[in-house]
Amino acid sequence: EKETFQFKIVFLGESAVGKSSVVIRFVRNSFSEKIESTIGATYTNTEVSLDDYIAKLQIWDTAGQERYHSLTPMYYRNSVGAFIVYDVTSADSFVRAQDWVHELRSQGAKNAKIMLLGNKIDLQERVVKEEVAMKYAEESNLLYAECSAKSGLGVNAAFLKLAKSIPKE
Ligand code: GDP
Ligand code: MG
Repeated sequence: EKETFQFKIVFLGESAVGKSSVVIRFVRNSFSEKIESTIGATYTNTEVSLDDYIAKLQIWDTAGQERYHSLTPMYYRNSVGAFIVYDVTSADSFVRAQDWVHELRSQGAKNAKIMLLGNKIDLQERVVKEEVAMKYAEESNLLYAECSAKSGLGVNAAFLKLAKSIPKE
């Protein structure tokens, strides 16, 4: 019997970068061009089996509040991990991701492990270079990964990497 630890993980980032899609890809291994907005209404529980323990993830996705900049600190309070997602085809979403890093660090759980996650790498129209994002992540002490919720590439690896980085208490 492996010991289990429960972690609250939040998803942050501009509207339409694919936050809900990444969660659905990870939890259900599926993808849809059209997401029902109710899916993001609350949290989803899922488990990740690591070498010597099980991480029970309580994953908080927004119900679209980020669209109106009305996400409250209540949402990310007590989180021990955060995915800050941007769309690699949108420079604006990358700038907005940096705002979220500052907001989380000033208003949220100060010690939360943060992963900067570039999504939609299946698309040809990339504008945010991997080197640029990686350098920013390094300088800002963030974990970094890229993925495609559509193809699934990189999604599991990103969750594993973040889960492993969270201290077990
Ligand atoms: P959210 O607002 O950040 O939760 O974004 P959604 O998950 O609702 O996704 C917004 C749109 O982007 C939807 O039409 C998705 O199907 C699409 N999308 C999400 N992830 C990807 C991806 O990895 N690749 C592509 N091509 N489209 C994606
Ligand atoms: Mg969503």
